[in-house]
Amino acid sequence: MCRPRPMGKTFFISTAIPYVNAKPHLGFALELVQADIIARYRRLQGDDVFFLTGTDENALKNVLAAEQEGISTEELVTRNAEMFKSLKKTLDLSWDDFVRTTEPRHRAGAQKFWLVAKKDIYKKSYRGLYCVGCEEFKTSKDLVNEHCPEHPNAPIEDIEEENYFFRLTNYQKTLEELIESDRLRVVPETRKNEVLSFIREGLQDFSISRSRERAKNWGILVPGDETQIQYVWFDALTNYITALGYAENSDRFRRFWEGGSSITHLIGKGVLRFHAIYWPAMLLSAGLKLPTQIVVHGYLTVGGQKISKSLGNVIDPFEVVEKYGTDALRYWLARDVNPFEDGDFTWEKFAERYEADLANGIGNFVSRVLTLAERLNGTRIDFEKDVDPMLAGAVARAQEAMTAKLAGYRFHEALAAIWELIGAGDRYVNEKKPWAVPDKKVLFSLVTVVDNVAALLLPFLPGTSEKITKQIAWSDHTITVSRGPALFPRISS
Ligand SMILES: [Zn+2]
Repeated sequence: MCRPRPMGKTFFISTAIPYVNAKPHLGFALELVQADIIARYRRLQGDDVFFLTGTDENALKNVLAAEQEGISTEELVTRNAEMFKSLKKTLDLSWDDFVRTTEPRHRAGAQKFWLVAKKDIYKKSYRGLYCVGCEEFKTSKDLVNEHCPEHPNAPIEDIEEENYFFRLTNYQKTLEELIESDRLRVVPETRKNEVLSFIREGLQDFSISRSRERAKNWGILVPGDETQIQYVWFDALTNYITALGYAENSDRFRRFWEGGSSITHLIGKGVLRFHAIYWPAMLLSAGLKLPTQIVVHGYLTVGGQKISKSLGNVIDPFEVVEKYGTDALRYWLARDVNPFEDGDFTWEKFAERYEADLANGIGNFVSRVLTLAERLNGTRIDFEKDVDPMLAGAVARAQEAMTAKLAGYRFHEALAAIWELIGAGDRYVNEKKPWAVPDKKVLFSLVTVVDNVAALLLPFLPGTSEKITKQIAWSDHTITVSRGPALFPRISS
């Protein structure tokens, strides 16, 4: 069947693509859930949304991880990419496409891109300090005790070889102007200032290839020079367009990128330079459209410490979902983490949130209201007359807050506004005591609150929203409420 294409504006949103040398951790779940909330919200606004994620598979660390396990690199990346793909179901994500950078469509696109950007590419001999953890050359001032601060256990290699370079210096002035004027918007402002001050310190051309030997013959070849492999970041960044069909200039690429109304990259603060400097410069060089905005979230820590395998504090999103459910994790990530600062996970904090906001908060409220409202079954309702203006006002305030907060990607505050509405509903029940004297207007007003809470929650907790909506049916102005099981059962920790 052919579905008609929505007529709204286009809205492209991507996450960064993670390395697949390890299992997905909670930090990436955060990014996926944030992107999913935006994608679902934009679809509800009528936009034609394309939500992209994927995996970055051409890194040297995949080769090293495979060597350690004694399996082939292909086997390792395929196995781990499947785990990332399975997050779609586990976290109830609505992405439209998942690109692996070992796929033919990406290889073809990355090679085409190189040729199109060729005027800014030249070869020279280079010596530098390389962190395999970051897949990036460092300067001595980046290092702490001669080690990468992000990877204190990884060796820093002193490397000298002939590489291809990209003339980033050609774009210094243009990039500064684009970012300063918000034509390329970096959100939040603190990250914008960080990028601007980095640019003003003076940009340098950067190396965009490795010898085939040092890359262990893994990655995407430089077109026309079989001795060199593209630097993993250079190929990885092009995933945003190769997935859309840049290689063959597909309809999709022209619709969502070149002719797109809005292009958003959602990223973590650690990869800001790549997305706000390298990638726009690459696109300028290739004569392609730039992203509209780059939204930058903080990191997740666990018990106040950076998440790391060596500290043994890696939180497995699959484990959290198994214990508490998909929407509980989505809720925690959106509600407890300020999107623009670092957030901290502990099982205790998670359990407290679950108990207070989900099992009690919304779970209790919905169950309480719908139990009482079953008495309305078969009653004719006048939508205009049967809603108490006080609760109608609370609904309107929550709707306004949601629009304003989501425009600024303040997921935590949008949810707080929805929980304020739930609080208003709870106070109303306590005050009106409809169990003593059932009153059509009181009960229907409360059902209206529940119904609106479900609608507002749709981008955040799609499963819960649907469960609630299913409990309230309408037919010819007559209501039928059929209360379902607890939304968030109590869980002993
Ligand atoms: Zn590093």
